[in-house]
Amino acid sequence: MSGYRTPISLEFFPAKTPESAAKLRAVRHNLYPLQPAFCSVTYGAGGSTQEGTFATLREMLSEGAQAASHFSCIGATRATVRSQLGQLQTMGVKRIVALRGDLPTGYGPAGEFRYASDLVAFIRAETGDYFSVEVAAYPEIHPQSATSGADLQAFATKVKAGANSAITQYFFNSDAYFRFVDDVQALGVDVPIVPGIMPITNCTQLMRFSDACGAEIPRWIRLRLEGYGDDIESIKSFGLDVVSDLCDQLLSVGVPALHFYTMNQSAPVLALCDRLGLSIPRTEPSLRLRA
Ligand code: FAD
Repeated sequence: MSGYRTPISLEFFPAKTPESAAKLRAVRHNLYPLQPAFCSVTYGAGGSTQEGTFATLREMLSEGAQAASHFSCIGATRATVRSQLGQLQTMGVKRIVALRGDLPTGYGPAGEFRYASDLVAFIRAETGDYFSVEVAAYPEIHPQSATSGADLQAFATKVKAGANSAITQYFFNSDAYFRFVDDVQALGVDVPIVPGIMPITNCTQLMRFSDACGAEIPRWIRLRLEGYGDDIESIKSFGLDVVSDLCDQLLSVGVPALHFYTMNQSAPVLALCDRLGLSIPRTEPSLRLRA
């Protein structure tokens, strides 16, 4: 046995109340034994969650985790982004997931950044190589793109602006990912493209997210989920089978890593990693955890 394990990373969203912050702390502590390469925290478009995002990052850093900040630029000015990059550097954050974000309709002016590629270029111009920069990728095509070709070109531009790697929107059809990787490689993009993995635990929530972000739920999966009605245990069990099969297909071709959308829950990710043989034996050194 080589002992190599495909790296994993974990994504959280910031808590809104002291109670949910305590719950999130417990979730992180349940997941740290998986030894994630990094843990990222989402950032609401227009800076709406900045305080919560930064507070969560500080906590994760104090717990000994590698913390990555998502950062969406829509609605922002160069001056505010410059100031926030400075705050992240002071905190010791070294990794950014650079995004455009989506402003709610009628939110106000779009700001001084139009696309994520503008943010990536700005981060590089302001901070050089200090940050490792991830960008978003869409194997099933970003919902606002006129054509798949235009979306691929936009992705290549974003990477060439200075991204180190990419994390995909979630998908349930591995062919879309494999095709995307081939297509961007043909455009000269050779950064790691890490599949984003969404555990299936809740039918209504999954349908809502997928409609909003353009991730396709194959018809047979949608029908099976709908057929379970309120039977949460069957949904979870079926979801675990579907998503672990998907991860098996990805791991079998040697994907660079897996990025889990935890939805601030530990049990689904623990179950998946256990099924996939990605859990670290408890006897190995794990993250140093502070109470
Ligand atoms: P971009 O790369 O700027 O692309 C947006 C659209 O513009 C695409 O259709 C693209 O094809 C097009 N485009 C890009 N460049 C050009 C160009 N030069 N000319 C013409 N068209 C162009 N949202 C948040 O608000 N907070 C988060 O924390 C967050 N985290 C995310 C994490 C991941 C891994 C992913 C996949 C998404 C995340 N999102 C988050 C959602 C994201 O903000 C939305 O999907 C948003 O609609 C697009 O962001 P982007 O960075 O991909 O934008």
